[in-house]
Amino acid sequence: MTTELTAENCPPLPEPDELTQFFWDGVHAHELRILRCDGCGKFIHWPRPVCRFCLGTSLTPTVVSGRGRLHTWTIPLQPFDAYFRSHLPYVLAVVELDEQPGLMVVTDIVDCAEEDLALDMPVEVTFREVAPGVTLPLFRPTEVAP
Ligand SMILES: [Zn+2]
Repeated sequence: MTTELTAENCPPLPEPDELTQFFWDGVHAHELRILRCDGCGKFIHWPRPVCRFCLGTSLTPTVVSGRGRLHTWTIPLQPFDAYFRSHLPYVLAVVELDEQPGLMVVTDIVDCAEEDLALDMPVEVTFREVAPGVTLPLFRPTEVAP
């Protein structure tokens, strides 16, 4: 049985283009891929055709660790989209990836109670099927090694 996708059970879908297809291919493979400049070695996100550090135009999708720190977050109260209204409450967040200071991704934090959220808490990527056939890279508190 297939579930019909509706505005309430399916988020706005990614619309990959020439510049962002690698990112969504990575998500499909459960890898977080970020563009890295072949010239200066810096990571760039969102994907852009030109390195903002050295203006190089040779950028390569690179698998990153998927680990980072919670930079900031909010709990939306009035989402504009029917899907998000039907999924309240959720945690909309910005995560700074470990690979580079200032390398930020916009995501949701999952598996964490609101009162346990803390600035700079370690988080890691988790790939979640949020609707049938729709996987997104979300973040959760990093598992602490025993
Ligand atoms: Zn560069």
